[in-house]
Amino acid sequence: MGGPKPMRITFYRSKCIGCNYCVEAWPERWQMSKRDGKCVLIGAKKKGNIHQVQVGEYEREYNERAAAACPVNIIRINQ
Ligand code: SF4
Repeated sequence: MGGPKPMRITFYRSKCIGCNYCVEAWPERWQMSKRDGKCVLIGAKKKGNIHQVQVGEYEREYNERAAAACPVNIIRINQ
């Protein structure tokens, strides 16, 4: 039933080193903050250090690339 399931991205922001790799992988979902030099998960709800957003399945491969590129492993993808 229905189309593809939405995917959820979880981002543990405090450990971000601002390397920009996620932004290069998928700039429609990731951008750099000029304020603190860490990246921003666009559209995410924030609970302290944990930022989460549910996005369309079509974004999966791009966000998986972002997660794989992140040197500190703070981007997680699940259903
Ligand atoms: S790839 Fe990881 S460390 Fe680099 S800017 Fe993105 S979230 Fe931060």
